[in-house]
Amino acid sequence: MAKRKKIAAGNWKMNMGYEEGRILARKVVDGVVRSDVTVILGVPFIHLKSMENILGGISNIHVAAQNCHQEEGGAYTGEISASHLTSVGTSYVILGHSERREYFGEGAALLAKKTDIVLKHGMKPIFCCGENLEIREKGTHVKLVSKQIKDALFHLSDEDFRKVVIAYEPIWAIGTGVTASAQQAQDMHKDIRALIAKKYGAETADLTSILYGGSVKPANAKELFAMPDVDGGLVGGASLKAGDFTQIVAAF
Ligand code: PEP
Repeated sequence: MAKRKKIAAGNWKMNMGYEEGRILARKVVDGVVRSDVTVILGVPFIHLKSMENILGGISNIHVAAQNCHQEEGGAYTGEISASHLTSVGTSYVILGHSERREYFGEGAALLAKKTDIVLKHGMKPIFCCGENLEIREKGTHVKLVSKQIKDALFHLSDEDFRKVVIAYEPIWAIGTGVTASAQQAQDMHKDIRALIAKKYGAETADLTSILYGGSVKPANAKELFAMPDVDGGLVGGASLKAGDFTQIVAAF
């Protein structure tokens, strides 16, 4: 029986001012009733320090950054380093979100470096992958997602790979209101797990949490999370409403 974590991760993206974010986080803390689900709030950098105070001491609620620079530090004006993140209690970092791939040109080589530095500093990457509609319609989505994972992650040792959370996020489902069907998510997650098993063995594959992302809402979370290879969700829009997000956490 798999011991992998059930995870509900929110991605606030570039939303929520300082006070709004504090209020939302407090509501989430008050509304989360499950202690067997790892809850992660992916917040803008300005919130990281105050989240430490709001979430501190609750063992299953963690904070994630949405990006991290690949270098240790130095003359990179405007960037945030891994040690900045750990200095304010960050434990997870979302990497390779499709918005960063598309708008900031992030590709496999860069993401491999970012993954390395995040792990080196003792944080866990939430590594996003997923195809656009054109690729899905062509039927080459499994090939593309496999390549995204192999190229950015398969240099890792088995020990490090076990710290990675995978988030499969079909781009055509992100922020569109169109969700992949539970079966479409399951099929891709099963293929991802098989790919991991081939490289790292069945035990590591079985321990890897694979999240689905793309218009997860209270109305579809239960069906998605009931799939054997769907270990939770990376949630954008619905994570901005405490009631919706806590219902999603309760949907496992
Ligand atoms: C996301 O940003 O990772 C995401 C899945 O967004 P949404 O839930 O809004 O589709």
